[in-house]
Amino acid sequence: MATVGFIGLGNMGGPMAANLVIAGHQVVGFDLSEQARAHALQAGVTLADTVKGAVVDADVVITMLPTGRHVRDVVLGEDGVASHVAPTALVIDSSTIDVASTRDVHEAMEARGLSFVDAPVSGGVSKACAGTLTFMVGGSDDAFAAALPYLDVMGANIVHVGAGGAGQGAKICNNMLFGTTLVATAESFALAEKLGLDPQKIFGIITSSSGDNWGVRNFCPVPGVVDGSAADDGYAARFAAALMSKDLRLALDAAGESGVELPVSGRANEVFADLASTEGHLDASAVIHAVRGRS
Ligand code: NAD
Repeated sequence: MATVGFIGLGNMGGPMAANLVIAGHQVVGFDLSEQARAHALQAGVTLADTVKGAVVDADVVITMLPTGRHVRDVVLGEDGVASHVAPTALVIDSSTIDVASTRDVHEAMEARGLSFVDAPVSGGVSKACAGTLTFMVGGSDDAFAAALPYLDVMGANIVHVGAGGAGQGAKICNNMLFGTTLVATAESFALAEKLGLDPQKIFGIITSSSGDNWGVRNFCPVPGVVDGSAADDGYAARFAAALMSKDLRLALDAAGESGVELPVSGRANEVFADLASTEGHLDASAVIHAVRGRS
């Protein structure tokens, strides 16, 4: 069994680290948040006080952080992962970040002779807990082969998309679709509300009809419909609106650089940007607030 350094023990990183512990790995974790640290400790993660402490003895390092800026700082910054990790260690970044940042990290790691893959995930907190995430991986064949045994513990569908950055490219294509369906789902429930329809019946009809989608099942925007949903919990974030807004922005930036027009996703981005400016800490399903606010 290996020693795994895990940086970023939040909504996703926490359960991913817990599954590595269950698989028998020694997981040494670091997070800035006391709450995240406390949960990880309960799950059997050994806590470190610094990035260095988490990675210095690691065979593998996994980062699960909010944005490209965080990943650049934690991996390449002063006292970061690259400065302290063993030359033989593999570094896996599973955060969702911009393609430019991930390519820069790939280049910097290669220049130092360190193995690195971008391996963002899809499936949300429920699949992170179940160990059934989808991983979209960018990097060399050798680095992918080295990462596979660890990704297998946390995921059920592991795809080697291509060279460095390809994982992040695939991820933003997926999340752009997810973000637009969340907005459309919230619009559907907002219209049903105005028409005086029972949301529970609408949910039952949508999930057995042509409007069915992953977002409505996992991010139903109205309370009292799906047991355990964020909406039932005051919209406490499973996947924060600010992160959804970030992903749509990343997709639109990549589209702009590639000369592709995305009018529907562009509107979804505006709706999420509105929400993120006031309630970005809430769950992405709170997008119904922004939809109602526009009516
Ligand atoms: P989160 O905010 O719950 O967790 C991020 C953690 O990183 C926090 O606990 C924070 O304290 C920690 N952190 C930030 N800067 C740090 C630093 N310098 N050193 C150590 N720890 C630091 O976010 P999350 O929902 O777990 O998402 C993490 C990543 O996964 C994001 O890029 C997100 O877009 C992506 N993602 C999230 C979901 C989801 O459903 N939540 C699904 C797929 C992908």
